[in-house]
Amino acid sequence: MTNRTAFVTGASRGIGRACAQALAEAGAKVVLAARDRAKLAEVSAQIPNSTFVELDLAVPDSIKAAFAQAGKVDILVNNAAITKDGLALRMKKDDWDAVIATNLTGAFLAIQQVLHGMMKERWGRIINISSVVAEAGNAGQSNYVASKAGLIGLTKSLAQEMASRNITINAIAPGFIETDMTAVLSEDLKAKMLAQIPLKRLGKPEDVASAVRFLASEEASYITGHVLDVNGGMYM
Ligand code: NAP
Repeated sequence: MTNRTAFVTGASRGIGRACAQALAEAGAKVVLAARDRAKLAEVSAQIPNSTFVELDLAVPDSIKAAFAQAGKVDILVNNAAITKDGLALRMKKDDWDAVIATNLTGAFLAIQQVLHGMMKERWGRIINISSVVAEAGNAGQSNYVASKAGLIGLTKSLAQEMASRNITINAIAPGFIETDMTAVLSEDLKAKMLAQIPLKRLGKPEDVASAVRFLASEEASYITGHVLDVNGGMYM
């Protein structure tokens, strides 16, 4: 991946950080993006050949500014996401809007920022991090699940629009991965999840990062519009 620049959203921790690390190890120059500048600086100092930009996906102007600062992007990993869980019956519209704005609209606007450059280069890789819940559904997460299922629809439509330009767009659907996002869940819930995983362990951020690195590589040049499950077999 030498001579390629990768832009990873939500790269300050968890899966995004592992993706940034894996892409840098594969030779890409990596731009780390998230809201917390201090955290980004800390992570960037540990990843050779990386820089960072502040980005708030819920704010369209911030997306434009971040990509203007980053310059040409060959590989975009739409990884950042938030949750605001609750049963649909009582869900506040603000919680619905915030999750859709960050996870789905933010990813779409980020994609719009890189498409022209990729079309000009006749090469591009876009990898959208969805979730197993987009495929299986999950009670208490209707906003998050809708955003993640939306990303899969976006992936497949865009893959068809961009195939003639040699730009591939794929999604990854991680299962239950050990990060800050899942650290907040109760031990009881974690044990229940574990019981549903044939491979009998929770996933690590590196498990997802390996799949991202593959989809970003030359070796994956004939794969587009695909949803790759990285879930230990919990949903087939
Ligand atoms: P995480 O530990 O909560 O990290 C989220 C990252 O996104 C952070 O870097 C955060 O940094 C950034 N972020 C949040 N809101 C943002 C915003 N408005 N603008 C820009 N950046 C923002 O999450 P994770 O567990 O690594 O998950 C990464 C991805 O995998 C997400 O798309 C998630 O939905 C998906 N996923 C995770 C699991 C799992 O089990 N962990 C399972 C399936 C799918 P700041 O707060 O500084 O902005």
